[in-house]
Amino acid sequence: MVAGLNLHGPPPAVADGRFAPSPTGGLHLGNLRTALLAWLFARAQGAGYLVRVEDLDRGRVRERFVAEQLADLAALGIDWDGPVVRQSQRTELYEDALATLRAQDLVYECWCTRAEIREAASAPHMEGLPEGAYPGTCRELSARERSVRAVAGRPPALRVRADDARIEFVDRLCGAFSGIVDDMVVRRGDGVFAYNLGVVVDDYQQQIGEIVRGADLLDSTPRQLWLQQRLGLAHPGYAHVPLMLGADGARLAKRHGAVTLADRAALGETPERVRSDLAASVGLAATGERPAPSELVERMRSMIASGVPA
Ligand SMILES: [Zn+2]
Repeated sequence: MVAGLNLHGPPPAVADGRFAPSPTGGLHLGNLRTALLAWLFARAQGAGYLVRVEDLDRGRVRERFVAEQLADLAALGIDWDGPVVRQSQRTELYEDALATLRAQDLVYECWCTRAEIREAASAPHMEGLPEGAYPGTCRELSARERSVRAVAGRPPALRVRADDARIEFVDRLCGAFSGIVDDMVVRRGDGVFAYNLGVVVDDYQQQIGEIVRGADLLDSTPRQLWLQQRLGLAHPGYAHVPLMLGADGARLAKRHGAVTLADRAALGETPERVRSDLAASVGLAATGERPAPSELVERMRSMIASGVPA
């Protein structure tokens, strides 16, 4: 199966952008640069910018990070429209989406442990699938095999039957991209709805027209496009921005030292300085220059008009 964009459903009425952090830690400079770029893309196109807190995994969420992350955005001059949406308050929407998938006989129970999936996923036939892809172990279990596993106690995760669909799309920054969709989890064994389902439902419900996010999520985009198709939702546009790297060339992380806004403040750097450095890292400011947020929006507008991606 081959799918492009804009195949299903009407386009969103409003082409808004968004930033959707998980409050499981502080935002580092890479997260902040992604938030800034998403904001600049939206504002430069005259669109709204929404913030959504992805707090479904209550075991990992720390409430103090919600306020801290929002304060960091505000300190950088990033503003947003309307109330901040919390995924933890939207479970009914995800239940509805799950029911829609079930009605198409696309959902099955999976009892595999992580170790079992790792082992099976190293088999040669798994080549070409995304990292951590599910090998389909529980897809064709008989009723008897299912009941044996069910009485063993551990509640099953719910997966979708994707039949190794190949999905192609054009990313605004990364260009043509193609990936095979595995039988992803839509609800974990502990009842928590999976990232891919939540993000698809919320981006549609919030009428997000263009999703600007880190390139680490490029691989998961075919899964989300597949879910949009099966749920009958319009496809948004995608622009995956490059990840920030540490001095060692690895993806920026806490171990790289002073990587949060608070860390930088402790070194005497103002939020204006950090914002300008982030803008300079994508060619929107000269080194040492301190452009205001409104000036950055103007520069982004010119960059988009001239067809040069950030
Ligand atoms: Zn399984």
